[in-house]
Amino acid sequence: MPFTLMPLPYAKEALAPHMSAETLDFHHGKHHKTYVETLNKLILGTPYENTPLESIIEDTCADQDKDKKKIFNNAGQVWNHNFFWNCMTPPKEGATKPRGNALQQIEKAFGNLDDFKSEFKKAATDQFGSGWAWLVLDQGKLKITKTPNAENPLVSGQKALLGCDVWEHAYYLDYQNRRVDMVEAFLNNLVNWEFVAQNLDSSEVRSAA
Ligand code: MN
Repeated sequence: MPFTLMPLPYAKEALAPHMSAETLDFHHGKHHKTYVETLNKLILGTPYENTPLESIIEDTCADQDKDKKKIFNNAGQVWNHNFFWNCMTPPKEGATKPRGNALQQIEKAFGNLDDFKSEFKKAATDQFGSGWAWLVLDQGKLKITKTPNAENPLVSGQKALLGCDVWEHAYYLDYQNRRVDMVEAFLNNLVNWEFVAQNLDSSEVRSAA
């Protein structure tokens, strides 16, 4: 099979109490796994069998064809979840914070870290229904965006730096209807800022005009 379920980069208990082992059991072991299996079934016998995930997403994202739409939804969700697991790291003592260039770029774009968090939380809660909140690089500038369902920054030609899953399945077991509490726990305790910094350092940030 062309695509496999990415293993979690940490033990499923490692994000507790902010994200429980039970949530990761369902979210990674069932939801993410199903996206991978469904994608593999849908691309069987099509040219997409030997196509990289990013190219499948870019090729199908604007297609109105029903079958292509299904492929896009599952390919998008496979990519989004691979990215999301890497956006988190087991919580350490004290709040997790960006450093160096990542912090400088965030301060330049949003004023300070707290304003960045407020804006990210707003995007996450304003997303009506299922979707994602993102920190992206768009034409060399840092921006916060939200996308519905399986859509992601690749669809708009942006580079994802950080992403948070705001589908109900991401938080319902731990937070029930309180999406904002999950997003707050994610921002304050779980973000893997080293991963964000790597994404940023591999991109070109344009200096403010
Ligand atoms: Mn999810």
